[in-house]
Amino acid sequence: MKPRLSTDEYAAGIAAGDRVILAKAISLAESSLPDDQEQASDLIAKLPLSKKSIRIGITGVPGVGKSTFIEAFGKYITSLNKKLAVLTIDPSSQLTKGSILGDKTRMEELSKNPLAFIRPTASGNTLGGTAGRTRESIFLCESAGYDVILIETVGVGQSETSVKNVVDFFLLLMLAGAGDELQGIKKGIMEMADTVLITKADGDNLKRAREAQADYQHALNLFSETTSGWKPKVLICSALTNTGIREVWQTIELFRDQLMQNGHLASQRNEQRITAFHELFELQLKSELTKFPELQKKAEQLERQVAEQNLSPHKASTELLNLYREAIKKS
Ligand code: GDP
Repeated sequence: MKPRLSTDEYAAGIAAGDRVILAKAISLAESSLPDDQEQASDLIAKLPLSKKSIRIGITGVPGVGKSTFIEAFGKYITSLNKKLAVLTIDPSSQLTKGSILGDKTRMEELSKNPLAFIRPTASGNTLGGTAGRTRESIFLCESAGYDVILIETVGVGQSETSVKNVVDFFLLLMLAGAGDELQGIKKGIMEMADTVLITKADGDNLKRAREAQADYQHALNLFSETTSGWKPKVLICSALTNTGIREVWQTIELFRDQLMQNGHLASQRNEQRITAFHELFELQLKSELTKFPELQKKAEQLERQVAEQNLSPHKASTELLNLYREAIKKS
């Protein structure tokens, strides 16, 4: 086994923009081993706050054209001499050991671009942990000098909500005329979008894409106004013909400028930090239980009683908490 890198070695490598070390540091942050977690946490504390980046969440059902769009978008972003990191969260990989995002090579061209860094990440077995871990990966990428961070998720699960908690701008990709108005995407996800992007607006599909644009814009206008003052937009694009890609970036810049001016971007990030703090505290508190195997067993017993309706969830929770307090006292 190779000796592990010291925290200083990680920090120096990241500051120098070393992609191999960055990838290793992300693995460290994703690891569930306590030693790794501790080192990742020390590393993050050591790294200086980096220059301003923009964090963009991208979601949409499989087949909507996410990877093709990211490829085209990434090409455009890097042509502006900006460094782009793409973190792909695949919620399926834990469950099925396969993956929705597929075994095919995604974003092949972009992955060869020296200004781009692409990193698939399993969302981990704790859904609540997605945001915390992704936050750390984002921070590591920012420290390595990435200007634009894309967080890609598949728009079918719960991870979108946690991703919304770590990004500045949320982009929802949709197909035109795919029948079902929301294409299996939960309504709440549509409300989270800062921009809806209709993909594959080319050939015979262009007319349909324009119609869908009008329909979705109408639907979004019905949502109550956001606290940021931003009015969600609906755009169309074709990654195939490379049209509408620049407009997506211009919209993101407009969003950033507007929300920077009215202070919302900063306050949103602050709120996200607070959410992360609470989320992490809850997770750490829960993992404290694992230090007491007898409590783990008791928790399973209580779970069964709750399932069988012999005990209310509230009573079960109180009982476990009391047992935990006793165990702490004894230890
Ligand atoms: P993902 O599963 O959301 O990442 O979707 P992909 O990017 O893999 O795209 C799914 C399919 O749609 C592929 O066969 C692509 O070639 C096709 N596709 C993606 N973007 C476009 C586009 O702009 N126009 C057209 N006509 N097809 C596209």
